[in-house]
Amino acid sequence: MTAHEPVGLWSAPGRVNLIGEHTDYNEGFVLPFAISHRTVAAVGLRDDARIRVASTFTNEPVEVALAELNTLFPTPAGSAPAVPEWAAYPLGVAWALLADRAIDVPGVDIAIASEVPVGAGLSSSAAIEGAAASALNELWSLGLSAKELASIGRTAENEAVGAPTGIMDQTASMLGEPDAAVFLDCRSLQSELVPLGMAEAHLAILVIDTHVKHAHATGGYRDRRDACERGAAIMGVSALRDVSVADLDRAAELMDDVTFRRVRHIVTENQRVLDTVEVLRAEGARAIGDLLVASHASMRYDFEISVAELDTAVDAALAAGAIGARMTGGGFGGAGIALIEASAVDAVSAAVLTAFADAGFAAPNLFTVAPSIGAHRDE
Ligand code: ADP
Ligand code: MG
Repeated sequence: MTAHEPVGLWSAPGRVNLIGEHTDYNEGFVLPFAISHRTVAAVGLRDDARIRVASTFTNEPVEVALAELNTLFPTPAGSAPAVPEWAAYPLGVAWALLADRAIDVPGVDIAIASEVPVGAGLSSSAAIEGAAASALNELWSLGLSAKELASIGRTAENEAVGAPTGIMDQTASMLGEPDAAVFLDCRSLQSELVPLGMAEAHLAILVIDTHVKHAHATGGYRDRRDACERGAAIMGVSALRDVSVADLDRAAELMDDVTFRRVRHIVTENQRVLDTVEVLRAEGARAIGDLLVASHASMRYDFEISVAELDTAVDAALAAGAIGARMTGGGFGGAGIALIEASAVDAVSAAVLTAFADAGFAAPNLFTVAPSIGAHRDE
């Protein structure tokens, strides 16, 4: 490896979605924040117009010619990527960055290491995309903005990996700031930082990673997207963003019960995001507990994307005094979050562990996250 010593380190964080679940692809609102757990890309330059990606996850790096990227991607719908799936994230980023650009860029060696738990709903995928995109943007002198790099990450995830995800994760990972959430309008893509004031209020966010794995690209996620599209079509709108809480009575009359409950989740969740932003600004994070709890109930009963482990995590945290708690991420597993007093981390953690043991579930992984800065160059 001496030939391709890293010329720099770039990193991007995972994210926690504070509120606004499955609203992104409905052109609605989300309120994620970047977390302190990051993925680092050490990148070296090479003189042979090839790109090599390696990760601490695997001992098999993947190497291709830059000119070959256009033959590997996009991945046909429903197919697995032409490279090992993990490599489709960084290679997909390189492909998306180079697409349609007739520029001569140097080859690169990208070595990836991460502290973001994978498949836990904390978006290790956006972190790997953000780290790779930030590095290549600079080393290839592309001059793209953080927002444009978020969009590159999404293109990689949608078209190279083949996961039909929205823009939220990448936006949070690219644009996050310490002690702030990123309020994103997924239609206009306009974003705004909303101060959280966690440290000042002596609050903490406890993440409860259930270890139950989700599979984003398949099954339930696709099904929920279809239900949302169906609901929007029945309501005569292009996206559920355009349905308001006041329209729900009419929606109930027009569609079957399952579709209606899917629609009701999206419509009320969008309103909860707006309400959360307002409450954060007016009263601070201590006042958003009920909104978090209502969000979880909506996902549990209307959108039906929670699982028993997530419900146990939320219920146990609330019983132990959490201000609010909800599952976060796409659902069907992954993590829950609890907004708690910073002094209550140990007590709430112990209560959650006990509840999992009592239910016969494998012990969850518990850790706190601080709202942190987005992607940047480290060295
Ligand atoms: P999440 O984003 O919730 O963690 P995803 O399924 O969206 O889950 O993304 C996880 C996938 O991203 C992993 O299965 C792997 O393919 C890829 N990935 C994430 N981090 C890394 C890493 N450090 N090294 C290699 N691949 C990674
Ligand atoms: Mg992901």
